[in-house]
Amino acid sequence: MDGHGRDRPEGLWPVCRSCNGGPVHPLHIAPDLGGPDPTWVCEESGTAVAALGSLADA
Ligand SMILES: [Zn+2]
Repeated sequence: MDGHGRDRPEGLWPVCRSCNGGPVHPLHIAPDLGGPDPTWVCEESGTAVAALGSLADA
């Protein structure tokens, strides 16, 4: 558990399942909410993983 009380990936932003192996890392939205065509982007590789709203299907 870290200093924020998080010890499971469920508490983080959606975990990237696009990358194989490596440390667990989250996705973030780019551009920020409110921008055009927001997309989930892997924080590690910078790869666009899924359009916002379709993450469950990715
Ligand atoms: Zn990734």
